Amino acid sequence: MDTTLFQPIPGMADLAAPEVLLWQRLEEQARRIMPLYGFTEIRTPALEYTPVFTRALGETTDVVQKEMYTLADRGGRSLTLRPEGTAGVIRYAAGQGAAADGARLYYVGPMFRCERPQAGRKRQFHQLGVEALGEPNPAADVEVIALQQHLFQSWGLRDFTIDVNTRGLPDDRPAVAQGLAAAVRPQLDALCADCRRRFDTNILRLLDCKQESCRQVIAALPDMATFMSAPARAYLDEVVRLLAQLHLPARVNPRLVRGLDYYIHTVWEIRHPALGAQDALSGGGRYRITQGEKNFDGVGFAAGLERAVMAVQHDQPGWLAAIQPDAPVSLVALGAAARDANLQLAQELRQRGCACGLDLGDRSLKAQMRAANRAGSAWAVIRGERELAAGAAALKDLRDGQQTELKLEDVVAKLIAATGPTRVAPAPG
Ligand code: AMP
Repeated sequence: MDTTLFQPIPGMADLAAPEVLLWQRLEEQARRIMPLYGFTEIRTPALEYTPVFTRALGETTDVVQKEMYTLADRGGRSLTLRPEGTAGVIRYAAGQGAAADGARLYYVGPMFRCERPQAGRKRQFHQLGVEALGEPNPAADVEVIALQQHLFQSWGLRDFTIDVNTRGLPDDRPAVAQGLAAAVRPQLDALCADCRRRFDTNILRLLDCKQESCRQVIAALPDMATFMSAPARAYLDEVVRLLAQLHLPARVNPRLVRGLDYYIHTVWEIRHPALGAQDALSGGGRYRITQGEKNFDGVGFAAGLERAVMAVQHDQPGWLAAIQPDAPVSLVALGAAARDANLQLAQELRQRGCACGLDLGDRSLKAQMRAANRAGSAWAVIRGERELAAGAAALKDLRDGQQTELKLEDVVAKLIAATGPTRVAPAPG
């Protein structure tokens, strides 16, 4: 038997109950909070022409060089499954022309990166992200960081940390690269093979390396900002001042670079200690992306939902149990006529917001009662020929075993009052 037919591709996962309830809850909170900051949803395709990503993210980035799922369409054009959300949103904005100036957009959806699967690192994962288009402005960057903090708090997250840094302006890059190269060159032999390659192709990426030998070299390097122009340093100072004004618990981490070339000025990462080696919950920053002849400036972030769900389960261990839907009502039938009548009754109850289940076959009373208990039902409505003829039903409270015979309309009224529309627990905090 080919068991691969029953398994998703390694690094990809099925999402089902009960965890999917937590996913829905996080998304509901996001959909509530985004409009408070003026963001509307955008749904871009999962597949784009490859240059949408290679041009925006940079040819030398790890994502473009190693991680994209790229295929050819029938005409031979190269297509790529989106590895991140920003490039597609900017492609959309470029098509909108002036109408997209100042756009505030958020997205939720799957992203694809052909990485080695490991804990916290998947090949299909989900991101919730925002893009706020507009000229560089420290206040806009801080507003987006504040939105993230608001969102994470609404998810019940407590222990996250916010690291910020600056990438400076495009004109600062040669000086930063030269300054870092001069400091790294004498220790080149101590670096891993990847970092020796990065030294020539994209020296900033070396600051991200997790290898212990590289970390020691990196720790002794001068801060990037020391090689930057005065305006770039002043921009970071202003961001830090505004973060403090909003009491956002951010700290400057001069080694933070983030992996993509499009960033300018502010970059940040939010980490959570429960996530292990892959501890980044979200990353963001200000970017400048060229599409056609035009530069698109904006600021945004992307949060990984798989990791967010893990962090929520750590910080709010009881939450998943609390958001299980209310135990439903089970409709129990004795005989074919009662089963038909139950199908009608179920429709009425459901349309009035009361969740219920019923036996669609002809199982015995005992089997139906067992199924009701297994489903965790709070109530069973039991009807046979006699109850049908009398317009009545037996209502059994399965928690205390009490059974009463009532008129059908009274049963319906009682169930609607007792269960109401499916309820979910309120968000903590
Ligand atoms: P990035 O654009 O790589 O900084 O990703 C932003 C966020 O998406 C990260 O902080 C993670 O939470 C999440 N993320 C990125 N790559 C993966 C992956 N391979 N598996 C799971 N989550 C990921």
